[in-house]
Amino acid sequence: MASRLPIAVAPAGHETAVSYVTRLSTLHGMPFAELWHQVSRPRTGGGTARFIAGERLAAVTGLPETTLAHALVELRRPEPDWLAYRHEPQHGGPRCTARHLGGPVLQVLPHHRYVCTRHRIWIGPPDLLDLPYPTLDELPDVVAAQRAHLPLLHRLGPVATYDAVLTGFLICGHRWDQDTDHPNDARVAWSERADILIPAGTEDTTFSTSRLFAATYPEAVKVAALIGSLHWRRLAADGPNGQRRFATEIGRRLGESDYRPRIAQDPIAHWIEQDCWQPPSLPKTTYRAPRGTSGTTAAKPNQQSIDRNRRSATWFARNRRGGRVILYHRHLGPVLVRDWSTPMDLFTDTVTASADTGEFRAAATQHPTGIDTHGITAEYLRPVPAPSKHLATAINPVPWPTRATSHSPPVQEQPAQRKVFAHKAILRT
Ligand SMILES: [Zn+2]
Repeated sequence: MASRLPIAVAPAGHETAVSYVTRLSTLHGMPFAELWHQVSRPRTGGGTARFIAGERLAAVTGLPETTLAHALVELRRPEPDWLAYRHEPQHGGPRCTARHLGGPVLQVLPHHRYVCTRHRIWIGPPDLLDLPYPTLDELPDVVAAQRAHLPLLHRLGPVATYDAVLTGFLICGHRWDQDTDHPNDARVAWSERADILIPAGTEDTTFSTSRLFAATYPEAVKVAALIGSLHWRRLAADGPNGQRRFATEIGRRLGESDYRPRIAQDPIAHWIEQDCWQPPSLPKTTYRAPRGTSGTTAAKPNQQSIDRNRRSATWFARNRRGGRVILYHRHLGPVLVRDWSTPMDLFTDTVTASADTGEFRAAATQHPTGIDTHGITAEYLRPVPAPSKHLATAINPVPWPTRATSHSPPVQEQPAQRKVFAHKAILRT
């Protein structure tokens, strides 16, 4: 048995085992691999990968196994609901983790953590790891949105909340790139928040897609409260009167008081047509899936993601609209290409298609609503309720749906691979 390390260091909450062992090895001037060998064991059933072992880590650190398991997400028993956690580790908030010595703390956070409300710092979604997290001192509504997000968890459960907030971002992203002449439209607020987070002219150093998510987060949560609610989903899936009530309420939350769904270029109409009557969407993968209970590879920003960030910064500097970049970010993958999404060859097409698919328009035009189906401003209205087995029986909290196939590829970073992934995802249907 390995001997006990002299410097006592506790793990941070939600910290990964690799992050903790890396800090311990740094503080003791030991090679990581040597210490990892002492505190891990091979998984039963073979293979060369080694997994963190609670009792060995307890012996080496002198901390009770229960204390370690409380903090280290991979040691928790029973295992956490991995679907409710992000699949990528990310840096902890700088002030929350400042007292944890030995290097950066990497955490696996649950999907609902976007803001450190205590220190008013934007922490999610995971992005380039080397970028400092922005402060929200000047953006109290973004901090308030985190406080509004948490009650959704209790009301709707983690599954509906996860799907609803991502769908909220998707709707905001689509709308941001469209023009508005409403002075109260949320798009005006997104631009103003972006001006604070990424001041014009500083895009080279301040840009990150994560900050664009921050700019839309308040409305994403407001919209999510409807998207995740069975009551409002049933109205959206209902006949014309229900749809109109839903449209009025979602329009109000987005600052467009006279909003009516349109048959083209409208992510809300698309959601009403294709998604509102379906169960929530699942993450494409989990932290546990690609690497077992723990692995020894901490995510690092690679050259491709740095290049992509630079291209996005240039794009954003040109038009100061964040929609396109938000929609292309892997954070929205699970709701951009859903399990039942209409077949598309390329991921790039899917972005356009989720606002304006040929199938969607065809479906809308077949309906005898008497609307002008050729103009893109024509109103979308489904004349009859969408028959839905899911909505007929669903109660809160909705459970994670089971995928028909065991297909769950890791979400890829590179655009080329993401296209392949999107292609595979739709072949499943
Ligand atoms: Zn903090």
